[in-house]
Amino acid sequence: MVGAGLAGVRSVEALRARGFGGTITLLGEEAHRPYDRPPLSKSVLLGETDSTIVDSDLDALEVDFRAGVAAKGLREGVVETTEGELAYDGLVIATGARPVRLRGDGAQHVLRTIDDALELRALLTAGTKVAVIGAGWIGAEVATAARRAGCEVTVVEAAAVPLSAALGAVGAHTASWYGQAGVDLRLGTAVASVDQGGLTLADGSTVEAGVVVTGVGVRPAVEWLAGSGVELGNGVVTDEHLRTSLPGVVAVGDCAAWWSRRYGRRMRVEHWDTALGAPDVAVAALLGEEAVYDPVPYFWSEQFGHMVQYAGHHDGERLVLRGDPATDARWGVCWVSEDDRLTAVLAVNRPRDLVQGRRLIERGQRLDVGRLADPAVALRDC
Ligand code: FAD
Repeated sequence: MVGAGLAGVRSVEALRARGFGGTITLLGEEAHRPYDRPPLSKSVLLGETDSTIVDSDLDALEVDFRAGVAAKGLREGVVETTEGELAYDGLVIATGARPVRLRGDGAQHVLRTIDDALELRALLTAGTKVAVIGAGWIGAEVATAARRAGCEVTVVEAAAVPLSAALGAVGAHTASWYGQAGVDLRLGTAVASVDQGGLTLADGSTVEAGVVVTGVGVRPAVEWLAGSGVELGNGVVTDEHLRTSLPGVVAVGDCAAWWSRRYGRRMRVEHWDTALGAPDVAVAALLGEEAVYDPVPYFWSEQFGHMVQYAGHHDGERLVLRGDPATDARWGVCWVSEDDRLTAVLAVNRPRDLVQGRRLIERGQRLDVGRLADPAVALRDC
């Protein structure tokens, strides 16, 4: 297994659970045992915990875990690492993704690792001016923690609404949360560069900041696979069994772009739930079985005191609002296909909608769309 994040460690567990008795080596570039990333921008930044180590007994799994060892290259049957070559019969690629950084010579923090989180947390002190670039999931959670620490926070977002990449225009309903939390949200504002002491914006104006956090997305960590024969294209290209173009090589988690039967397209989903679920299918493929990976993707975020959950995949379908985002603390959005099937659901402080909506999407059941708009009616009764 290359990559000792959640997808890597779950691959080890899945392989052993299927009775595999051979040697397993887990390579991890970071110096840490596998840990969970979602709490980094939540409980870790908020100072509620320092460690998010995955609850997995590597000794009992009899895995040769090599921390601080990176893969540098791949040729058939051999992984080239920073500590020499490693022969394999089967390989799981689970190298995740790396944050994008912007231009400029100013200090710029990103949030991907536990080290990033602890370093950033130490800087979030009362009165510190913090500029967050990007009002996506990470930007919103960093802004939440920074305000909680008493920082003066400005969030600069190039799009017209927050969360636009994930939610499109629906993200507009979250914009008021920033002002209510005392965050200065600047929409439609592109950053030209990160400089000493703050940001320079595309219109030439500046934002003063002692701490700059860049949260503008990630790219799959696949540079080490260049020239290996593994097909790349927005990550590692796989079939519906998570098999790559090289025999005996599968890919899982943030780095994998798999073929989805359900959606009839390639999907690369940077969600915790994908890293959790895909390994079981991938190792089945390694062992010669024909399992198919085809989930309804699921994601959550905790921002400005709201639990935001999303399941499914939408692409221009009809929108139905459940509740009024302007006045209700609990609201949601359903995306509905032309033939009245739920394709995606957004649930804000409505966890039951998420659970029931995800099930409806999985079943592909037709709905009474008229009832959907009534938030008092449970989704499963629509
Ligand atoms: P990763 O967790 O990135 O693990 C990959 C590992 O491989 C890394 O440790 C990396 O160092 C290592 N690696 C990379 N290249 C090499 C190499 N060449 N050799 C050896 N090792 C290498 N998802 C949600 O659903 N909900 C959330 O609320 C949420 N919050 C998040 C908050 C933060 C701050 C972050 C960063 C992510 C969050 N996510 C969330 C996304 C979720 O954490 C990821 O989808 C998940 O971590 C992906 O797991 P992975 O194992 O595929 O990749």
